[in-house]
Amino acid sequence: MRFDVLTLFPEMVENYCNFSILKRAVDAGVVELNTVNPRDFTLDKHKKVDDTPYGGGAGMVLMPQPYVDAYESVQQLENSVTIMLSPQGEPLKENLVNDLAQYDQIIMLCGHYEGFDERIRDIINPREISLGDFVLTGGELPALCVIDAVSRKLEGTLGKIESAQDDSFADGLLEYPQYTKPREYRGLKVPEVLLNGNHKEINEYRYSERLKRTRERRPDLLH
Ligand code: SAM
Repeated sequence: MRFDVLTLFPEMVENYCNFSILKRAVDAGVVELNTVNPRDFTLDKHKKVDDTPYGGGAGMVLMPQPYVDAYESVQQLENSVTIMLSPQGEPLKENLVNDLAQYDQIIMLCGHYEGFDERIRDIINPREISLGDFVLTGGELPALCVIDAVSRKLEGTLGKIESAQDDSFADGLLEYPQYTKPREYRGLKVPEVLLNGNHKEINEYRYSERLKRTRERRPDLLH
């Protein structure tokens, strides 16, 4: 999977991918990360990438030329998708992550300030994705969430030890409660069933805990 991220702050994206499981995925060649800075494409001698909004109003709007030129500089693979990170987009959920993991390349446009000049949407025609109903200062965190969540779905990113198959949402339910050593901490004991080595009973216990949790916390998932 190749991620091409258009951002005014490439280090924000590169640094996150330099740690832990994502770094391992990059080192193993499962994931390739390429950042492109629209500021490098501006024709303006002051390297300006934003300007005041026509019609008035607060803040600065990202100008079309640097973003469109930066986008067109990215070599597009046959099986690729272009995403604009935007609070107005489709919410990022498990199904969407699974869908994105089928591509060979994901190109992402991160906004900043007041967001994009509308003509960037008109010309590039991206799929718009939102992290949720709140507004962030920039698209870098949402882009990293896409990179992280999609990378976990790719063969070779997670070792057996970090397997995703029991994770929340993998089959629609939340995960069961987890325990590790010690057996007792501040008077709280690990449930006996997890200690007896009977895998049938452990599986039954975990499944009923998953149902209980989902019913209590996210009844919408059961529907
Ligand atoms: N003025 C825009 C609006 O009200 O829709 C918000 C712009 S926001 C301050 C700047 C950039 O952050 C956006 O262009 C987008 O790339 C990113 N962003 C902010 N919130 C986001 C969210 N919930 N999901 C995805 N991207 C978001």
